[in-house]
Amino acid sequence: MKKKTSSHLRHKFIEFVPNNIETGMIYISMENAVAIHKCACGCGQEVITPFSPTEWKLIFDGKAVTLNPSIGNWSFACRSHYWIKRNRILWAERWSQAKIEQNRSYDKALKVKYYNQSTEVDTSLDVISAGSSTNNGIWMRLRRLFRI
Ligand SMILES: [Zn+2]
Repeated sequence: MKKKTSSHLRHKFIEFVPNNIETGMIYISMENAVAIHKCACGCGQEVITPFSPTEWKLIFDGKAVTLNPSIGNWSFACRSHYWIKRNRILWAERWSQAKIEQNRSYDKALKVKYYNQSTEVDTSLDVISAGSSTNNGIWMRLRRLFRI
């Protein structure tokens, strides 16, 4: 199969992900705080980007979407790395294994810091949101997204 590299994506706000994820599309579910698209390198892998204070952030300017930070598909064979800026794919450099590991531990530390802080600051939030979607992990969100 010939690989087709995307240079831009079209965004679509959705509630549920369609059965056929089109290459060159990014599907965004605000309700589930997650986006999904096929890897821009053309390898066909589906890239899931959850939105949260320690994960990705979505900027929608009314015309196009931007995702921050960059998308590093280190767990895929292609290891592609790119930014989605105003629906355009901006290719970034591939990282070495050392850099990937370093970033993973930084990312972990950042999450620990964030969640430690938030439990200190708003312990009451847990009680209020118990049973609601806020405490659900990414798999719960995805399960709803795909209507499994
Ligand atoms: Zn890829």
